[in-house]
Amino acid sequence: LRNISMIFEQKSELFGKPTPIPAMTDIQLSFEPGEIVALVGESGCGKTTLGKVVTGLHKPTRGQLLFQGKDIWKMNKGEFSEYRQGVQLVQQDSYAALNPMRTIFQSLSDPIMQQKLVNSRKEAYDRVCELLNTVGLTPPEQFLDKYPHQMSGGQRQRVLMARAISLRPKLIVADEPVSMIDVSLRMAILQLMSTLNKKLGIAFIYITHDLATARYIAQHGRMVVMYLGKIVEQGSLHDVLAAPKHPYLQALLSAVPVPNPRIAKVKRELPLKSLDMPSISNPPPGCAFHPRCLYADLTCEQIAPSLLPTGRTIVSCHHVEKVPKWTIATEK
Ligand code: SF4
Repeated sequence: LRNISMIFEQKSELFGKPTPIPAMTDIQLSFEPGEIVALVGESGCGKTTLGKVVTGLHKPTRGQLLFQGKDIWKMNKGEFSEYRQGVQLVQQDSYAALNPMRTIFQSLSDPIMQQKLVNSRKEAYDRVCELLNTVGLTPPEQFLDKYPHQMSGGQRQRVLMARAISLRPKLIVADEPVSMIDVSLRMAILQLMSTLNKKLGIAFIYITHDLATARYIAQHGRMVVMYLGKIVEQGSLHDVLAAPKHPYLQALLSAVPVPNPRIAKVKRELPLKSLDMPSISNPPPGCAFHPRCLYADLTCEQIAPSLLPTGRTIVSCHHVEKVPKWTIATEK
């Protein structure tokens, strides 16, 4: 993604001008084959928009999305369709993502038949059974004639994974895939993603606001942290979490509950001036984090920082050197 910005226009209720909503601004990011990237941030920070831009569902307002050196928005119809096939989206709401009037067999066989990846109904049947086996819905014959409402949230999420891998993608953008299913089933879906990555070499962009699941799925991958439409820190997940440098990421980590705060004697203070996130439709000037940042000064209020290499990670902050090293604060 080269200098990608996405600005939506919100229509005004009366006859005024539409309000521009900068969902993401000047995003520079690249993805390698087979890697797992956790994209982390609060609701409304632009991470879902970024996922949709990567899948080609949103055309960015500015910037270029290059795939193997070629701008996807300048590709011919055939190339663009091949790109879309190679980058699949798995959404949060599995119920809404599946057609309630179609059986699981129909939902899974339609795309592979449309893309001519199979030559007959028998081949489609075999491929759908193979896909259901791959995502752990066994024996597959039990699921073929079911409708989405006859399955649990975890099973529907597996069907979405099966549909995504049916087109043999290179990359899956998984947008909060476990946030609407029972906690007890979350680990199984994360393990499935990990298996698909290892066995089929599929790269994943895992979009989440949950640091614990990000830590699990991208343990050998990368972490990208967004705030109000911008990337504020990125690097290998290990390096980013071992020494988080951006004040926003430090605050996010301080908000994670510890198992037993009485034994750990943890002070529950967030290193923030304010808990309220400004509206993305009217982001603060300069560094967008300055109204909440304990280390902000005049420079921060006026000039937006750039993403620069700082040690082993890349951080967007004017005063990385004056931000204290992050640790869980404990009582003396
Ligand atoms: Fe805080 Fe300034 Fe760094 Fe922004 S640039 S995170 S306001 S210190």
